Amino acid sequence: MSYSEIWDTQDAFDRYEAIRHRMPRAAFPSGTTQCSGLLEIADMFDAFVLDSFGVLNVGEAAIPGAVACLEQLRARGKHLIVLTNAASYTRETAVRRYRALGFDFAPDEVVSSRDVAASRLKEVLPVGNWGAIAAPEDRFTDIPAKVEHWSGQEVDGFLFLSSAALDADLLASVSTAIRHRKRPVVVANPDLVAPRETGLSKEPGYYAHQLADDLTIAPVYFGKPYTNAFEDAKSRLTGIHPQRIAMVGDTLHTDILGGAVAGFKTVLVRDHGLFAGHATETFISRSGIVPDFSCAGI
Ligand SMILES: [Mg+2]
Repeated sequence: MSYSEIWDTQDAFDRYEAIRHRMPRAAFPSGTTQCSGLLEIADMFDAFVLDSFGVLNVGEAAIPGAVACLEQLRARGKHLIVLTNAASYTRETAVRRYRALGFDFAPDEVVSSRDVAASRLKEVLPVGNWGAIAAPEDRFTDIPAKVEHWSGQEVDGFLFLSSAALDADLLASVSTAIRHRKRPVVVANPDLVAPRETGLSKEPGYYAHQLADDLTIAPVYFGKPYTNAFEDAKSRLTGIHPQRIAMVGDTLHTDILGGAVAGFKTVLVRDHGLFAGHATETFISRSGIVPDFSCAGI
């Protein structure tokens, strides 16, 4: 898989702030408590909702200590859910990939923005076919709609799943098609960037906001920080009070903002994701997106 553009933290943060008006609003705590990791605060929670990239893995590698931490949380009876904006592959493949990294998640413990979008596509376009912007190997068999890789053919809507094969030329083609005929654009990964071994890759959300700016259209986003993703996470944690659930993530504008909107407590993980190598205080004060807790790693 190749990603055509790599970006830096400051630019990604500035872009998140520039599109803030397209994101939900939330109330935040007045300050952040530093902690050594999730085990230190585990007594305060019955469930942990975990972001994936920057918390469990970077690119295709597990973050050291993450597998052991989750094993200990499970041993203490905590519910674990992965809530990821990864939409490049099916849940079956996601679970298999987690297994290969050492994580033992059951299929119903993984909520991906791909599934959040797939279950709601009919609300956006009751009838018609979707042109997918997706990883070349994607087969869409898990999506209950007519979806095919887009290569210029006539479609009724665009479905952004992955930026693995997306570059400026392909985006320009999508833009031209939408100028010719307006139609729904669904974004199944609202992230602007994702931490890879080589740096921050630009993700579907980045390109969709570009289209929104250029064409004055309103793409429909599924995934964090939007409430659709948190509805699906909550549906796996029925009976648990939101304040006994911790949303754990590396990104203020997706994980921490979305977690706060959902009424969860929030934990920012600093050292492996968007803010790796940066002091987070400036980003927190500039955005006003304040996590309840902050730790270097889980
Ligand atoms: Mg992340």
